[in-house]
This record gives sequence, structure tokens and C-alpha cells, in this order.
Amino acid sequence: MTTKQGDFLELPLPVDTHLHLSLGGDPVANARLQLAAGVAGVRDAGDRDGRLDGVAMPLSLNVVRTGPAIFKKGSYGSFLGDNREFTLAEKIAQTPSSFVKVILTGLVSFDNYGEIGPQQWSLEELTEIVKMAAAIDKKVMVHANSDKACREAVAAGVHSIEHGYFIEPETLTLMAAKGIYWTPTIAAMANQILDPDKRFSRAQLAIIKRNAGRQLEMIKFAYDAGVQLSIGTDSGSYNVPHGRTFLREMELFVEAGIEKSEVWRIATRNGWVLLGLPGELRLKLDPKMPLDALLEESRRVLLK
Ligand SMILES: [Zn+2]
Repeated sequence: MTTKQGDFLELPLPVDTHLHLSLGGDPVANARLQLAAGVAGVRDAGDRDGRLDGVAMPLSLNVVRTGPAIFKKGSYGSFLGDNREFTLAEKIAQTPSSFVKVILTGLVSFDNYGEIGPQQWSLEELTEIVKMAAAIDKKVMVHANSDKACREAVAAGVHSIEHGYFIEPETLTLMAAKGIYWTPTIAAMANQILDPDKRFSRAQLAIIKRNAGRQLEMIKFAYDAGVQLSIGTDSGSYNVPHGRTFLREMELFVEAGIEKSEVWRIATRNGWVLLGLPGELRLKLDPKMPLDALLEESRRVLLK
């Protein structure tokens, strides 16, 4: 898909593979912030009870929606999940686009290093969900933290793993072999180190820093191992603003040790392929330009 001509690479426009348009402000305003940041496509990873249904998004933004996330009643995820009285089969059938979002575990603890909110679905249950989704031609993206959950997600046959905090190198190696995408959402963790609202204690900040540091190491490991990475910001979450976090997530990939031009390829081609978007929107750019300048070029095309 990539063609090299001199120093220029022809690639699609950038894609944010994980965000929440319904969180952190008005959904349409949030969509406009993505375009203004140079982002051409997004995968919305869950809106509570389908509140994005019928919302008219700007036409120039490619929106792939999972609809409400599938989570187990009483577990983590009600704020972006389906709380209505539908069966699992009905929830999967109502997924508006090509991806079903499943919440497999809870959040990463800021109080005890390495602790993760409980796993909601067993390997057997998750495998069944993946099968039910595949039967109607849909892929599964899974919110998973802890190595055990990520490993089970791989075994169940999901298409992409989201967050993946505390994933181990062996699991990443398996993902590379199986072509499973990883969206590490590092900005959503690293942004908390800045703690603008003074929400966290000194002990919690130390754990947040450790979490972010470990994730950066795994991003580099994954890249070297050949895992298909993608830029997903989790925008809409606490302290993760729509639009400008896209550059921040790319910069963190550079901080992890991945070459800038490769980060641009991950942000564009990988996202485009992961979402299965059509191929006409492409830009021929010098990947040695600063990342913000590359995004500016994309913004110019999108807002034309
Ligand atoms: Zn999310």
C-alpha cells in the first residue's frame, strides 16, 4: 500500500483507532475537533446505550462506530456500555459498523501497582462472542488489561486489543504472529502524570509513572516484534481532550523509541487498514517533516 517516491511517502490520512465522541463534550463538536487536528477517521469505542444513534457527524470524518460496548451487568463499563435489556445476540446484531466492542477487564489500579479490575468474561464466553460476531461479519475489539486477559483475547480470536497494560512480551509475540492489532492508548495514562486537577496522591503518581514507563517499553518491544500498532487516544476519557491528543499519542510513540516516519505510517496506514476504510484519501508527504506539520497538511486537505 505504501509507495516510496524519492523522500516522499504516499499514505492515507491519519486515523484515531480508539476514542469516545459521546464523552468529554458535545459529540459533533468533538468530531469537528478531530478534523481540525488533521484526523480523517475515527473508531468510536463505545457510547452508552447508543446515544450516538442518529447523530449527524461531519461528512468529511470517517466514523466507525461500535455502538454501546458489551460488558457484564454490575461490572466496569456502564458509562459506555449497553445497559438495556437486550440479549447478547441482540446487542451484537445492533452493532452499527464493523466492530463489536467488548470490555474484558476493569481499569488499571493507581493504588496497587499491577492490579487490574476483575475479568468479566471467561475465555469460553469471549470465544463465543467472537464467533457470534464473526457469523454476522463483525470483528471484535477488546478492552483488556493484565497479561492473562490479553492472552485469552488472543486465544479467542479478537481483531484488536485496546490498552493492554501489563501485557508480556510473549503475548505480544503471539499477536505479531496472528496479525492482531494493539492500541496501547499511552496518552490516556501518561497525561495523568501532569495531574492538572491535583487529583492524585504522590504514591498514586508514582504508580501512574511506572505504568506509563512499562507501557512505553512494551510499545517498543511490540514494534520490534512486528505487532501491528495503531494510534488510539481514548479521547473523551478524563484528562484526554479530543483533537490535540492525537499528536500527543504519536509523540509518545516517538518517546518509546520508534522512528518518527514509522510513527506516521502507524498513525495513517495502520489505522486505515485496521478500520477497513476505503483507499481514496491519500497524501504524498515528506515523512521527515515534524509530526505537527504532517498533521497540519492533513488538516488542510480535510477542511478544504
Ligand atoms: Zn476507551
